[in-house]
Amino acid sequence: MGVCIEVDVNYADEIECVAILLREARYAVALTGAGISTPSGIPDFRSPGSGLWERVNPMIVASIQTFRIRPKAFFDWVRPLAEKVMAAEPNPAHLALAELEAAGCLQAVITQNIDGLHQRAGSREVLEVHGHVREATCTRCHAVVPTGDFLDDFLGSKEVPHCVACGGVMKPNVVLFGEQLPVGVLNAAQAHVLRADLLLVAGSHLDVMPASQMPLLVHERGGRVIVVNMTDTYIDAVAEVVIHADVADVLPRVVQACVQVRGEG
Ligand SMILES: [Zn+2]
Repeated sequence: MGVCIEVDVNYADEIECVAILLREARYAVALTGAGISTPSGIPDFRSPGSGLWERVNPMIVASIQTFRIRPKAFFDWVRPLAEKVMAAEPNPAHLALAELEAAGCLQAVITQNIDGLHQRAGSREVLEVHGHVREATCTRCHAVVPTGDFLDDFLGSKEVPHCVACGGVMKPNVVLFGEQLPVGVLNAAQAHVLRADLLLVAGSHLDVMPASQMPLLVHERGGRVIVVNMTDTYIDAVAEVVIHADVADVLPRVVQACVQVRGEG
């Protein structure tokens, strides 16, 4: 069903197709994963080879169960990752999605990332289904505080961050393995998906529920799916356009092509 059949190593034809589909879409939504933040220097901690699998299994150390019984093990593991997240800047892929939204070609970004780089790039409608690192919650008194209040202490020391009010352990507002996703955000994300006639998958392997099911939902309802990802995904087989390349290279070219399409139209 693909509209692009010519193979081009530069993906010039595919990128033009993506631009046209974005211009034609009534309600386009992007779904992003770790691959959109790796060009910003944030490793995909689910990927072997990221350096974060060397000593411990993230699925265990970054689980809510480990957090409850051995918070220091979690914080010792997450500290190098947190340093990278805090030092990261939005890359051209984040900026491109913000430009598409500003141009009226994109309605929302649903992200599996917790780094906040979409907002910092200028995206306005961002659904963070795995939470974010801007705030933390006390596990005892449930006080919510900006992460910045204790970040320097946490990164500079080897200590577990504690609540200044009650001494309880502070948990960043990110979804750990084994933990429920934030219901309100998830419902809002689903509402965008149900309206979408185009879903742009950018930098996600689509192997983590429930975001992984969103492209299928759009496809089953007659919408179009575009995939820009380094490796193949299950939805490639039915996607309108598939580009296996770096989102930071591809998405700025999509924006450029969109401007041209608009100029010609
Ligand atoms: Zn507290």
